[in-house]
Amino acid sequence: MTYQRVLLKLSGEALMGNLGYGIDPKVVADIAQEIADVVQTGVQIAVVVGGGNIFRGVKAAAAGMDRATADYVGMIATVMNAITLQDALEQINIPTRVLTAIAMQEVAEPYIRRRAIRHLEKGRVVVFGAGSGNPFFTTDTTAALRAAEIDAEVVFKATKVDGVYDCDPHKNPNARRYQSLTYGHVLTHDLRVMDGTAIALCKENNIPIMVFDLTVSGNILRAVKGEPVGTIVGG
Ligand code: UDP
Repeated sequence: MTYQRVLLKLSGEALMGNLGYGIDPKVVADIAQEIADVVQTGVQIAVVVGGGNIFRGVKAAAAGMDRATADYVGMIATVMNAITLQDALEQINIPTRVLTAIAMQEVAEPYIRRRAIRHLEKGRVVVFGAGSGNPFFTTDTTAALRAAEIDAEVVFKATKVDGVYDCDPHKNPNARRYQSLTYGHVLTHDLRVMDGTAIALCKENNIPIMVFDLTVSGNILRAVKGEPVGTIVGG
């Protein structure tokens, strides 16, 4: 295996499948199985889940809601996804702990960095809920932050496309896919890999980002093995 400890960023939309809103249990079960396949190789995996399938702070703020309040709702939405993913993993006997950045002790453990690392060392999947705990941030930035905190070797940014293109492949048939990119190129050209804060954090901490298509079965494991399944962003 190329990597021993990875941080997987799952957007809320990844859990939505083809539904317009919410969580598709079949899709979550499939993702859980992909994660299980990684855990069974002995590789440690932590997951940051988004919440865009349920609530997005920016969107609610645009409709008139107070931005910080809306972001707290968004963070709570991510906890729903985190607990759902935990359930799917435990259905297939993969021990999983949800750690939330906003205390919700009845349903999950509070985020404590050393505890997260300990869980990983014991072979448990760690799912980080409630983003960073701060409004005005995203779960992409949370992924970069947690990856740095737990010493993950790589961030896996699982999406619906097989990497980063020079323009939208759905709109332009001549779009070219990059094999690798520098952080600087992503930032300068505003390529929408992750938001700028997340890219800057990964750059500062020298954590590569692998962007790949989650909908292709086996891709998480391929990425762990270091196969070129998508675009790698690095120094
Ligand atoms: N959010 C936040 N702080 C964080 C992470 C998330 O306020 O550190 C809120 C924000 O409102 C965001 C929502 O949670 O819109 C859901 O997260 P995100 O949009 O990153 O989810 P994704 O796009 O990955 O599904």
